[in-house]
Amino acid sequence: MSQKPLHPRTRAVHHGIRRSQYGEMAEALFLTQGFSYDSAEQAEARFIKTGPDEFIYARYGNPTSRMFEDRIADLEGTEDAFATASGMAAVNGALMCFAKPGDHIVSSKALFGSCLYVLDVLARFGVEVSYVDGTDLEQWRAAIRPDTRAVFFESVSNPTLEVIDVAAVADLAHAVGALVVVDNVFVTPVYSRAVEQGADVVVYSSTKHIDGAGRCLGGVICGTRQFVRETAEPYLKHTGAAISPFNAWIMLNGLTTLELRVRAQSDTAMTVARGLQDHPGVEKVIYPGLPDHPQYDLVQRQIGSGGTMIAVDVGSKDAAFAAMNRMKIFQISNNLGDAKSIVTHPATTTHQRLSPEVRAELGITPGLLRLSIGLEDADDLLDDLRQALA
Ligand SMILES: *Cc1c(COP(=O)(O)O)cnc(C)c1O
Repeated sequence: MSQKPLHPRTRAVHHGIRRSQYGEMAEALFLTQGFSYDSAEQAEARFIKTGPDEFIYARYGNPTSRMFEDRIADLEGTEDAFATASGMAAVNGALMCFAKPGDHIVSSKALFGSCLYVLDVLARFGVEVSYVDGTDLEQWRAAIRPDTRAVFFESVSNPTLEVIDVAAVADLAHAVGALVVVDNVFVTPVYSRAVEQGADVVVYSSTKHIDGAGRCLGGVICGTRQFVRETAEPYLKHTGAAISPFNAWIMLNGLTTLELRVRAQSDTAMTVARGLQDHPGVEKVIYPGLPDHPQYDLVQRQIGSGGTMIAVDVGSKDAAFAAMNRMKIFQISNNLGDAKSIVTHPATTTHQRLSPEVRAELGITPGLLRLSIGLEDADDLLDDLRQALA
């Protein structure tokens, strides 16, 4: 009898578990930086070649971190993964681990500020970086050259929720042998088909939906075993990017409920986005699940959900601040993917450092609010927003 493949929800609960001799039910937290050896010979052998389920130092790997890596690689559909201390350690590691002076990287320009900073660091060390409007395939086509080493983009951009065509960009990149590195935070592993669509390396900040309750920082780089273990791991383990085992344990448990949470949050986001569309205090609702989103067809094909994030333009900074200050359930903060709904004013916080011109180019208007939809009841959230925008 052929073995039917298990569904993601089942694998999210069981995959990757490593039980100790006690047979504990819950995933164990191995809060240890080191590992003791039975003999000097064993220590020597392990330093010569560390087996897949052997450990020598938590900066290199830890059983709890490895459980998280195995489980997310399985859910993402990659051979392997390396967990990092934060999403930025993952972005930095995924690019720095292979880049060298003279390399050419093409990146979308609608990026999280710290991602832009990492690209600036690469440029400082002699990597040439070209920026394109990620939604314009002609710009990718024009920028990608025979010597392009990699392309990098956020598949759904922060905060304006532009969607980049992973398959089309990957085709252009692969035609010249370039690596496709995707920051997939807004899509989450629940909706991700990035690898199927041509991504070679998928990066997450697990601080967001994977933790899901705003407790810990973490990140992960997913890719082929060769990329993760031979290209990324040496860079990550020697430069100290490793995740804390405690944080990995939180993330591992986060994966167990990720699908249930993200689907519920996305359903609520759809209800909230629809409910805001006709509100007189709202000039524009940007939500990838609404048919008026400029890349609606691509969203359906590539993601299959509008996701947990909404952007609304309320016209001015004054209107935005007034609304935020009236919100009771939405918390003013800057994380996302949390169980608690969050409102962010990107122009004055997450994207404050950009010049007004760059902000305008990226669509980050003074009246733009970013909403991260949590696990609360949709009616309560809509009531909160409606009274705040009244
Ligand atoms: C938050 C975020 C990051 C950085 O993750 P940290 O865990 O905060 O380091 C990178 N990319 C995107 C798209 C993010 O939203």
